[in-house]
Amino acid sequence: MATQIAQIIDGKLLAQQVRDEVAVQVEKMKAAGKPQPGLATVLVGDNPASKVYVSSKQKACAQAGIESFGFTLPASATQTEVEGLVKELNADPRVNGILVQLPLPGELDEERVLNAISIEKDVDGFHPLNIGRLAQKGRDPLFVPCTPAGCILILDKLGVKLEGANAVVLGRSNIVGMPVALLLVRRNATVTICHSKSRDLPGICRQADVLIAAVGRPEMVRGDWVKPGAVVIDVGVNRIDDPEHPKGSRLVGDVNYNEVKEVAGAITPVPGGVGPMTIAMLLNNTVRAAQMAHA
Ligand code: NDP
Repeated sequence: MATQIAQIIDGKLLAQQVRDEVAVQVEKMKAAGKPQPGLATVLVGDNPASKVYVSSKQKACAQAGIESFGFTLPASATQTEVEGLVKELNADPRVNGILVQLPLPGELDEERVLNAISIEKDVDGFHPLNIGRLAQKGRDPLFVPCTPAGCILILDKLGVKLEGANAVVLGRSNIVGMPVALLLVRRNATVTICHSKSRDLPGICRQADVLIAAVGRPEMVRGDWVKPGAVVIDVGVNRIDDPEHPKGSRLVGDVNYNEVKEVAGAITPVPGGVGPMTIAMLLNNTVRAAQMAHA
């Protein structure tokens, strides 16, 4: 049987297209005399990875013409202080989107903080009301979580027909697995959601026309788990030791890329696949929030 080599999906390019379009929308708003869109980032504590994420979001905002307002609270901040800041930002007309960088440290109650964000400014799409609407037929969330929205946009840009397709989602987290599964259902795919208690993952995955992996397990999905021609979206970002790499380690996804690219019809690489789409979708949500605020 001839070996199939998958189309490698260029997430950086697709993300740049979204970012260019966001910049155009920002220019249009300015030309119409509307205020510059603004995103507030809230970083609690000093988790190094969170710092990097927040700073790359701020940089991306600047490139798109979106103003960013950075707020940093110490890890010792109380629930009342964090929620108090969120409430101030809810009332600040310069702020169209509020991003509270997760995870929150210590005993802080994430759900209560997310609940405090005004749904009109919930550009991360994690407010229980937005998630609830995503899960309900005939209701629409104001914002959809960024990584899942990025996955769907990739599928759309590829021209994948989701209606009636068998989609398998590995992972059921609030941030990725569950919302991406809900989005696929809304697009009329037949969706199977797998998690750590699922049996026979290889067998289930082999049924998938579209396979989305979001488990955080390095290279878990093997070549023989994938139906020939399937579209594979690898959300995972895992750092593994690699003595041959100059840094001594490298990033891999949840999919064994070298094996799966020989079988799949299309695949996202890690890095350079879903990752860049996440920030692009955040900018997109922020400019939409600004458009809604100044409609
Ligand atoms: P979580 O740890 O919150 O969720 C992981 C999910 O995978 C859980 O539902 C868990 O099941 C399931 N799972 C874990 N191990 C297995 C297994 N062996 N078999 C089947 N299911 C399993 O992770 P996230 O959803 O936050 O992130 C997933 C991955 O995506 C991570 O690598 C993360 O770094 C990456 N990520 C990438 C982003 C990007 O922009 N590219 C953004 C966000 C995340 P159970 O529910 O039973 O515990």
